[in-house]
Formats: sequence, C-alpha cells, structure tokens
Amino acid sequence: MRGKLKSKGTYSKRTKTITHRVWHHSLTKKHLAGSEAGSFVDYHVNTLGWPGVGYTFIIEPKNVINTPNGKRARIVYAHDIDRRTYHVGNSNQFSLGICVAGDYRYDTMDDATIASFADLHSALVKDNIGKNDTSHSEMPGYSWKACCLYDYRKLIKWQGSTTPVTPSPAPDTNTIQEGDTLWSIAHKDGTGGIQVKDLIKANPCIDPTKLKIGQKINFGIAKDVIVQTDTCSDEKIRSIHKTLNSRYKAGLFVDGFNGPKTQTALIKALQTELNMQFNKKLVIDGKWGAKTKAAIVTVKKGAKGNLTWILLAALYAKGFNSGSLDSEFGKNTESALYKFQKARRISADKKAGKGTFTALFDERG
Ligand SMILES: [Zn+2]
Repeated sequence: MRGKLKSKGTYSKRTKTITHRVWHHSLTKKHLAGSEAGSFVDYHVNTLGWPGVGYTFIIEPKNVINTPNGKRARIVYAHDIDRRTYHVGNSNQFSLGICVAGDYRYDTMDDATIASFADLHSALVKDNIGKNDTSHSEMPGYSWKACCLYDYRKLIKWQGSTTPVTPSPAPDTNTIQEGDTLWSIAHKDGTGGIQVKDLIKANPCIDPTKLKIGQKINFGIAKDVIVQTDTCSDEKIRSIHKTLNSRYKAGLFVDGFNGPKTQTALIKALQTELNMQFNKKLVIDGKWGAKTKAAIVTVKKGAKGNLTWILLAALYAKGFNSGSLDSEFGKNTESALYKFQKARRISADKKAGKGTFTALFDERG
C-alpha cells in the first residue's frame, strides 16, 4: 500500500540507520470497525495532522488470508522503510514502527496474527532492518504508554502472547516529542486515563496546533495535578524564576508562568533578605502577614541590591515593567512604581514601603 494510503505531505527521509523495531498495538478492539490500517491512516492524518499513518507496517487480525503456509493476518506495508514516520517521538529517526491492530488489554491474539508477527519479524531480521525489539513504552519518555500490551518477545518465538505489560503511572508533566499531539498523548479510552479534554483543561494557554518539541505540558486534570508549564511562557518571568532558584533555592519550574508559586517564592525571597540584611527573624513561609509587613524596610531611588530586585520582579509580575531587572532603583523603576501606586490608589510617593509591598503581595487586597 506504499504511496496509496491517504496522506498530507510526506514524511522526510531517515538520517539514521534503523536500530529499533518498535511494537505497538492500536488500542482499538480487533474485531470492531476502525481496527485496520485505513482507519489509523484517517486518524493520524485528519486528527493528529501527521503527514501519513505513523507505522511502517500494520498487522490486521480482521483480514485473514490463506497462504501455502497456513492462515495469516494481512500485513499492510504503509511506507518505505527509509521514511521517518511518527510513532515514538524523538526516537522516530532510528525506529521502525509496527502496529498490531487490536486492544490487547482485552483482546487475545489469534494464531493467524501470531504467525504474521513472527513472519514479519524474521523477514526484518533477515534483511538486517533493526537490531533490537522494544515496545512503545520501553522507548524514552513513553513509559506510561499502554503500548504494546502483548508480549512481543514471546510472539517472536511463536509462543503466543497473553502476558500484558503494565505501563507506569503517568507523570505530572510530559515533554513534547516529535509528532506528539494532545490526541496522540491522551490515553485513548482507558479508565482513569487522560483524555484530550483533560489535557486542554490542564494547559489553558496551550495552542494544540502549535506544540513544540521539548515543550513541557501538564499531564491532566485526571491526575488532579496542575504544574505550571511553559505554555504560558514569559521570558522575563522565566528569568525571575531562574534568579529565585539560584539565589533563594525556590525550586520553581523555570516555565515562565506568572502564577501563585512565583508570588510565594518572591515573598520568601523578601523575608530572607529582611532577615539577612536587617536581622528581622521572620519565618520564611512565603505568606504575607502582619509580621512581614511590620518588618518592611523602605526601598527608594538610589537603592541597589536584592531588595530592589525583588521590588522590580514583583512589579513586573503585576504588569508594571521597569525595563531590565538589574537590582538598581533608577528612573525607570521609579516610574513603574509610580504607575503601580496610582493604579492601586495607594500613596503615590515613588517609594516602596509597607503600603506598596502590601499592595504587591497581599492577595486580599
Ligand atoms: Zn504505541
């Protein structure tokens, strides 16, 4: 079927030799409509937006053929071997994708399919295509994938297969690899699995059509964990995160997301500086309270150092940009501060004292 299946553009040529034969299943029940190459092509091209179906070979248990050697499941040869199709992200370059149609969480593999599997495997070995056999979930970054849930090692030896491999639990975040889309990442129909709508909810700033390789996204509402991600990225916030991490060991994701964690880390930084520079003995809890407020030391024009940096960072986080975050209270700082004070209707004295820091850090007002 090479060159005959539906496509949208073409996959580029591999620049590396195939070292891995990666075994998949389709997570669609083998006897139901949709459990064959044509449907996977549709899904990969129309829903995932890939140039073509992601596998080089697809074994179809539905379509049994009589051969001189006995019954075989049809093997669809979808792409030339040298095409870098999408199926294992950053490992696509050196991995050959082979999919057995079926959902082997529930399906059992029949003899014709086992025979085709073993035939295909020995043909690949004979032609020197790949050195290692692995499942999708054994490839870097995909340990949580429920793929493949049959024992490919036994199949290679014609020993049948019923032993499911248990995938790892999904991590909190996922790093986008080549070809990954929200749809390919989502666990299809698994109970407790992550659905596309969960991913969209968990990544509010994401444009699902513009995922970038290396981008980190939240894994989903299903896990009830929202870690901020670089989908809401802001370069300056990112640099604030870096400084908070290196100077105050804040342990933030350097994701550029301007959220409550950034705010807490800034308050902790402020408490730390007040303790170190002015011997204030505050509890470093990241909470804005009466004691912290009482300990505030006024920062004004001409000031230099970490307290000024915290002021600049906090102003920036509230949308008042003073230019560079350089730890110096100059003209630009003064003007950003003045605008902030005006906007918050607090005393516009161009000095950052108790009132200003309260407006910056007290979420209640
Ligand atoms: Zn897979």
